[in-house]
Amino acid sequence: MLLRGILAAALLGACSDDGGGLADGAADQTRWDGQVADGVALDGGAGCATSAAMLSQVDPSRMLKDLQFLVGLGERRTYLGQRKAADYLKSQLAVLPGVALREQSYTYQGQTYVNLEATIAGTELPGEYVFAGAHYDSASSDPVKAPGADDDASGTVAILELARVLGGCHPRRSVRLLLFSNEEQGIIGSTSYVSSIKASVPPSSVVGFLSVDMVAFGPAGEDLDLATKPPQATFADAVGAAVEQWTTLKVKKIISEHCG
Ligand SMILES: [Zn+2]
Repeated sequence: MLLRGILAAALLGACSDDGGGLADGAADQTRWDGQVADGVALDGGAGCATSAAMLSQVDPSRMLKDLQFLVGLGERRTYLGQRKAADYLKSQLAVLPGVALREQSYTYQGQTYVNLEATIAGTELPGEYVFAGAHYDSASSDPVKAPGADDDASGTVAILELARVLGGCHPRRSVRLLLFSNEEQGIIGSTSYVSSIKASVPPSSVVGFLSVDMVAFGPAGEDLDLATKPPQATFADAVGAAVEQWTTLKVKKIISEHCG
């Protein structure tokens, strides 16, 4: 179930504040054409021609290796733990063709932390963005350990694998894949990131944001929770339709003002 959940994460959103308010700008649903799956790629070879071809490039063994590395750090809540995780994730993203990697840094409690931004430029609509993100930090009540395999190494490796697959394709819109630090401290990292791009990415250019969090939580047969606020219901419908088309997971929609 772990891998199935992670694979499905490529197409889901979650009820979470990880985006630091990013999704609030995606109220303009009129441009959304439902092309979460087919139509994402224009060219880039046979591997990008269809959604099935792209999904076939997802490598579960590679994702498991990423997950084991992150969990093997023992914790990703301290500065040192998060720095080690970020260094690994940067090393994986930096070598991907078609992916522009940028670090966005901020200071928190006297230390400099980074969020990672991986952009795959759109070919037809480069000024429109589809965002997806996860948080690479962890939390625990244990004073020493916080391996965070589910929360949220699972989402982190899903985003990393998305970058590997989409980087070799040519999406119509720009895709920005985000890995946040310090989510568990009160969405510190994502809030800083959103503030940093406000001038360059107006809310009207954000088509949607998928927050991928805890996608390895449930046992086999568990529902996939897809949650958002009412203004993004159309986007959620499109994501849910794609999940049901390309996976065997059942989608449970939660449309509520209480979602972040
Ligand atoms: Zn989380």
